[in-house]
Amino acid sequence: MDDQQRLRYSRHLLLNEFGEEAQERLLAAHALVIGAGGLGSPALLYLASSGLGRITVCDGDRVDLTNLQRQVVHRQDGIGTPKAASAAATMRAINPDIRIEPLEERASPERLSQLVRGADVVLDCSDNFATRHAINRACVAHRKPLVSGAGIRFDGQVAVFDLRRADAPCYNCLFAEDAEAEDVRCAVMGVFAPLVGIVGTYQALEAIKLVAGVGETLAGRLMLFDALSSRWHEVRLARDPHCRVCGEARAAA
Ligand SMILES: [Zn+2]
Repeated sequence: MDDQQRLRYSRHLLLNEFGEEAQERLLAAHALVIGAGGLGSPALLYLASSGLGRITVCDGDRVDLTNLQRQVVHRQDGIGTPKAASAAATMRAINPDIRIEPLEERASPERLSQLVRGADVVLDCSDNFATRHAINRACVAHRKPLVSGAGIRFDGQVAVFDLRRADAPCYNCLFAEDAEAEDVRCAVMGVFAPLVGIVGTYQALEAIKLVAGVGETLAGRLMLFDALSSRWHEVRLARDPHCRVCGEARAAA
């Protein structure tokens, strides 16, 4: 780290549990963030400001006026521009010290597999089950830690699937793909702006701990947040031995 970096990250370096080695690990890490919307916005802002050295942000949408109520990485003058580029511009304005790779595309499962393979940690900030399951399959296949978040109306959830570990449950163990799952889109259901701020920020917190090797992560637990009553619930996650995703993959390995 040079003198400017020591100043920029000084409030991390002052933490006994963090310090210079953890900051160096963070600067050397590569995060893949799928989605630059309500969850991706705060996650990207904190990953960038904290000094996560290389951040790939993938989103195929463009900024719309209805996004600005909660998607805080975008600006009024970004309306009509690709979300990935808009997010990258804000992140670069905050921290020019890191490498940001905007991908203006809706990644196919094959493309996701390629992207996940090159990342140290993956943040699922997407808004539909098909993408969530494709990200999970890629993380299981390449044994990458997955930080999953979701938020709709006043209800949020965060979970970490540390698939580097052989006994870790995966997203499909929790929400099986063949189960009746309907996408609840915020386009029709509404979403409380600070809720996705809390969930996306929580995802950044867990991703940073995972790559910096700091503290105990949320691995194996699901946190549910009810913003209306301001209550958190914690659920322990168990691996489903019959899971179609991690069961087969591990049996074949
Ligand atoms: Zn599984």
